[in-house]
Amino acid sequence: MYKIENHKVSDAARVDSHLDEAGYHKLYKQSIDEPDTFWVEQAERFLTWDKPWSKVHESDMSKGEAAWFIDGKLNVSVNCIDRHLDKRGDQTAIIWEGDEPSDSKNISYRELHEHVCRLANVLRARGVKKGDRVCLYMPMIPEAAYAMLACSRIGAVHSVVFGGFSPDALRDRINDSDCQAVITADEGVRGGKRVPLKQNVEKALKECPNVHTVVTVKRTGGDVEWHEHRDIWYHEACAAVSTDCPPEIMDSEDPLFILYTSGSTGKPKGVLHTTGGYLLGSAMTHHYVFDYHDGEVYWCTADVGWITGHSYIVYGPLCNGATTLMFEGVPTYPDASRCWDIVDKHKVNIFYTAPTAIRALMAQGNELVTKTSRASLRLLGSVGEPINPEAWEWYYHVVGEMRCPIVDTWWQTETGAIMITPLPGATDLKPGSATRPFFGVEPALVDPEGNELEGVASGNLIIKRSWPSQIRTVYGDHQRLIDTYFSAYKGVYFTGDGARRDEDGYYWITGRVDDVLNVSGHRIGTAEVESALVLHDSVAEAAVVGCPHDIKGQCIYAYVMPMRGITPSDELVKELKAFVAEQVGSFAKPDFVQWTPGLPKTRSGKIMRRVLRKIACDELDTLGDTSTLADPAVVDELVANRLNRA
Ligand code: ATP
Ligand code: MG
Repeated sequence: MYKIENHKVSDAARVDSHLDEAGYHKLYKQSIDEPDTFWVEQAERFLTWDKPWSKVHESDMSKGEAAWFIDGKLNVSVNCIDRHLDKRGDQTAIIWEGDEPSDSKNISYRELHEHVCRLANVLRARGVKKGDRVCLYMPMIPEAAYAMLACSRIGAVHSVVFGGFSPDALRDRINDSDCQAVITADEGVRGGKRVPLKQNVEKALKECPNVHTVVTVKRTGGDVEWHEHRDIWYHEACAAVSTDCPPEIMDSEDPLFILYTSGSTGKPKGVLHTTGGYLLGSAMTHHYVFDYHDGEVYWCTADVGWITGHSYIVYGPLCNGATTLMFEGVPTYPDASRCWDIVDKHKVNIFYTAPTAIRALMAQGNELVTKTSRASLRLLGSVGEPINPEAWEWYYHVVGEMRCPIVDTWWQTETGAIMITPLPGATDLKPGSATRPFFGVEPALVDPEGNELEGVASGNLIIKRSWPSQIRTVYGDHQRLIDTYFSAYKGVYFTGDGARRDEDGYYWITGRVDDVLNVSGHRIGTAEVESALVLHDSVAEAAVVGCPHDIKGQCIYAYVMPMRGITPSDELVKELKAFVAEQVGSFAKPDFVQWTPGLPKTRSGKIMRRVLRKIACDELDTLGDTSTLADPAVVDELVANRLNRA
């Protein structure tokens, strides 16, 4: 167990970071006080425009409307590839690491250009044009990035659907945004297992009448069903076309992609992002938050099927001319040292992952980490859920050997880019806090009535002004955008998350507002109780929910996964309850502690508390949409062993 303490910038920062503390404050102040000056400088610095904008920005937050760099023209693939060719044509753009450790390759910016242009020409030849939607259902292979960039080159709107989704989930997403072309692979490979992607596409397309083209990448050579007029092989089609593809010049506000949220809280929403603002947001944050310097190797472990993969594997890094690593496999194959082996093999400098992966690797013990060198690492990042301070300190001490700052980045599919985060070299770190807002982001806390809370406070997290990479609409349902994000509080964006602000103005995300516990009048964030549980040596992972209680209003139900080698017992339950009481307060003591070998997670690795809440409350007939669960079998196990039965 590591002591949870604050870490000064000077403990672990490099000397040539882009910004220091004063630099952050100066730039942040400019971004809020003189937004137009600030954004003009940034948009000129980070992007190459074919035609300048006539107006920087216009928004009406009560209608969920925002426009940035109005009338400006640019093309995303040109910004991510063509403009780098002179200076860094031979530099590696993408390092691809296959599922098997023996399988990897480097793709230079020049090669990337050729691949993207060819595929763009193939799509054009199939009649795909500006504004058409193209669904990508791909494994983590370079062709996934080529496909995203090829769409952007011709102005088509991509909708990437995570390759772990079922045929039904794929069908619903194809139809929701009326995609007419699909790009996939014969099979994916993850953790030594094959995933029948083309077969899933076949099942999905039985009920997708408008799809006229399926492009299939040959990844494994496995058997596939084939439809002569609809299907083309990627390698054959690309070989037959030119490597020259004039880009479609896009308006700053033309759509770039649609991406469905992970579905932690309900039916997934088709989040629409546009061109100029999104690209600026992802590039700027990639530069500042990861303190990226030329020549460094940067690795984000997310899947391209999630926003993190969009912004921080593909668009942000490539726009900045970086070298980005793309990993096909899983952190535990062939064994749980894989991530650190990859770091050593490719000399990774910056590593960005999710708390769920950190906790899973932590539960495996330190040996698997410490036997590797990791000497190249200098910065670590976290995203996706609140990171428990215990896991933070483990990441800091064991993985980063106290030499790498950790950036705990809070953001959402809807925000397009990182919103609240430390900046390396500029921000003192507190484990579990996402710290301070990024440039141009004006967060605030409000009570349920919408009154803004000042100073040290706990409340609902809102964003008070428009930012460039903001969601533009929920595809096909603008009213749902307004209802979900712009109605709870007038004229501001409601994040759906709760947060606390401390005496230094640092933000601590306490979890989703819908998940906040209210025990005897005390409002407690799920993250606070979970972090206390995880702090205990015998606990690998924990999730807590509230259920109705006659006297207290709500009582706390905890699901707890033991560390490897720990045998659950009633004694241990007592100890855990006492431990939480000591860490948080006796009001936060769980009433129920259910042991479990696993927790229900979305396919992006987030704990799905709404399902846990139903089980805890013994409301089994209303479990809701579980189509985005990674492993539905976990639910059966939890139901069978539930403790609170009517
Ligand atoms: P849905 O909106 O469909 O329920 P989702 O919210 O899980 O799904 P994402 O956009 O992938 O979909 O996740 C964003 C959410 O993840 C945030 O609202 C927040 O709850 C959580 N989150 C992300 N990063 C952090 C972080 N650094 N600290 C705390 N929470 C985080
Ligand atoms: Mg969400």
